[in-house]
Order: sequence, then structure tokens, then C-alpha cells
Amino acid sequence: MIPFAYHRASSVADAVTTVADRPDAVFLAGGTNLVDHMKLGILEPSLVVDVGHLPLSDVDQLPDGTLRVGADVRNSDLATHPVVRSRYPVLARALLSAASGQLRNLATTAGNLLQRTRCVYFQDVTTPCNKRTPGEGCSAIGGYVRYHAILGASEHCVAVHPSDMAVAMAALDAYVVFVDGDGEHRLPLTEFHRLPGDRPDRDTELPPGALITAVEIPPPPHGARSTYRKVRDRASYAFALTSVAAELVVDDGAVTSARIALGGVAHKPWRARRAEEILTGAPATEDSFRRAADAELEDAQPLPGNEFKVELTRRTVIATLTELSEQR
Ligand SMILES: Cc1cc2nc3c(=O)[nH]c(=O)nc-3n(C[C@H](O)[C@H](O)[C@H](O)COP(=O)(O)OP(=O)(O)OC[C@H]3O[C@@H](n4cnc5c(N)ncnc54)[C@H](O)[C@@H]3O)c2cc1C
Ligand code: SF4
Repeated sequence: MIPFAYHRASSVADAVTTVADRPDAVFLAGGTNLVDHMKLGILEPSLVVDVGHLPLSDVDQLPDGTLRVGADVRNSDLATHPVVRSRYPVLARALLSAASGQLRNLATTAGNLLQRTRCVYFQDVTTPCNKRTPGEGCSAIGGYVRYHAILGASEHCVAVHPSDMAVAMAALDAYVVFVDGDGEHRLPLTEFHRLPGDRPDRDTELPPGALITAVEIPPPPHGARSTYRKVRDRASYAFALTSVAAELVVDDGAVTSARIALGGVAHKPWRARRAEEILTGAPATEDSFRRAADAELEDAQPLPGNEFKVELTRRTVIATLTELSEQR
């Protein structure tokens, strides 16, 4: 047991000032990821600042229709919120596909975005890992990569981001709202998580010591249908091998708007811009969906051992879009 100090933050300002100039301090929300990392020896903070009880647990509709989700809203509460269920089925389904009921009751919106990769080597401190210790090497390359990236990886890291919720939020053009010593900031969720490049230790663009306070989700376009499809080794309680968050607007047989993000395939939720471009204005047919999936996966670079994920992702994109196009 490595000793650490515990502070229960009384306000957002208290949380931010308490960790200022303390690079070894961490925020604690539901603790379902952080506490595991402390037990495994991945993290050894000297100060844990509890932000799970701050008044950041509301889901509000803003006058322009934006849904503002507080950082501490529990995954189970967000999944069952009536506005999420009716306007953003893709988000409700993504949340409900994750973890277990008990975990979703504790897991928060901010903690879910900032959860770290489930790469087995990252979690095993006896093996080299550039994400844990930069410069140490990547044990996954040449190792067990069933759950690893096929898009956007680097020679330094081939891990994927494990969140389901973040994939839905990436498709919905959500914004992450955070506070640091300079005040409040907003970042599109699609720019929040990073590709690994030569700094796989940095998962996101969140500045050190910044506290996420909310996620804002704009209203969906008129007539939008959305869903989330997750493919995994077990029917529940398993991370995605691949997943697709998709929203379509179909008018008179043609796609007028498409927003798609992929999960389980890259170091960040992968917004499928090429596929969206091909689909917009195209007939809502399986042929269009196939062309869109092919274009998005053209640059896929699977590793020896996860080649199957390219075809699996292609089929999952086509199946998800077909399902949406057939919805009444
Ligand atoms: C067995 C198991 C199975 C799982 N399966 C899935 C799955 O299938 N899909 C899925 O998406 N997830 C899954 N998860 C992950 C789970 O969703 C995350 O552990 C959870 O969402 C993290 O939220 P938390 O509030 O507990 O975060 P914590 O563990 O408290 O924190 C996580 C990180 O977020 C930081 N943090 C928390 N709040 C803030 C804030 N407001 N501002 C800045 N930083 C903050 C912490 O410092 C820490 O770095 C699983 C977890 C387990 C243990
Ligand atoms: S894939 Fe990334 S997280 Fe996994 S061992 Fe390599 S560097 Fe570490």
C-alpha cells in the first residue's frame, strides 16, 4: 500500500486550485478505473482529489436545444434519461452496452471519457509499455493484439480507446467543457482524444490539472435516426472488438445527413468522415453503405493477429446503416 492524501473538493474552484502545481495529484470520480490503476501500480498519486460529489450531476436542456450533461452524471442515469432515450438513442445504447449495471451506477461522464486503454500490457507493470513509461517500448507489437488498433496507430503504440459512450458522443458532435486556472474552455469531442503518434502517454488534449465540468450535445437534425452496434467476444460485460455509432437522415430514399463514428479500432473514437462524405446525397442502399465502409477502411493497417477486424468493421458499418435505413 502506497500512502496518499485524500481531499474531498468543495467546489469546482477548490478542485482546480488544489491540484494546481501538483502533477502527481489526480481527480477521483466513480473510481472504477482510477482505483484499479492505483491497485495495479500503474499510478502512484500522492494526492487524490474527490470530485464525484460536486454539483455536476444535472442533465439540462439549454434554450437552443443543446443537452448539457454534468461531468458527474452517472452512466446509468444518462442512459435512462428521457431526452437521451428519445432524441439520442445512439447514446443510450452505447451506454447500456458498456460494463455492468453496478459499474454504470458508479461510472461518471467525465471518468468514462478519461478511462484508459485496456491493453493487457498497459495493465501489467512487469511488461514494457510506452503509454505507461515513454521510451520503454511497446509489448503489444508482436504480441497479443486481438483488441488493438487497425486505424491511426503508430510504431509507439497500437492501443485503442475503450469507451463506448465517447464513440456515440463523437458521432453526435459533442463538446467537452472544462475549467482550468484560465477559466472555462470547450473542445469538440472529436479533437479531445489523441492519436498516439510519438506521445502515446498523452491520451487527450485536456491540459494538466483541468477539471471536466460537462459535455454538451447539440440537438440532432430533424428526422434523424440513430443507433449503436457493438461487436464483442461475449454478449455482455466485454469491451468492443469493433463498434459503430451512426445517425442518418433519409429523405425520399436519399441520405441527406450522415454522422458515423467507430469504436474499438483506434486510439480515439474514429469519426468516419470519408464514409459520411460518400453517403451524403447518395441513395440509402446497401451499395452506398458498402462504398462508404470501403472508403473509410481503405487505409486500415491491421496487425498480425487482428486482420479480421477490418472485415468485421466493414460488415458492422453496413449492417448498422442498413438497420437505420429500414427504420420507420
Ligand atoms: C470490468 C469493467 C468492464 C468495463 N467495461 C466497459 C465497457 O464495455 N465499455 C466502456 O465504455 N467502459 C467500460 N468500463 C469502464 C468504465 O466505463 C469506466 O471505468 C468508467 O466510465 C470510469 O468512470 P469513473 O467515474 O469511475 O472514473 P474514475 O475511475 O473515477 O476516473 C477515471 C479517470 O478520469 C479522471 N477524472 C474523473 N473525473 C474527472 C473530471 N471531472 N475532470 C477531469 N478528470 C476526471 C480521473 O482522474 C481518472 O484519470 C469497464 C470497467 C470495468 C472495471
Ligand atoms: S499498445 Fe500502447 S498501451 Fe499497449 S503496450 Fe503498446 S504502448 Fe503500451
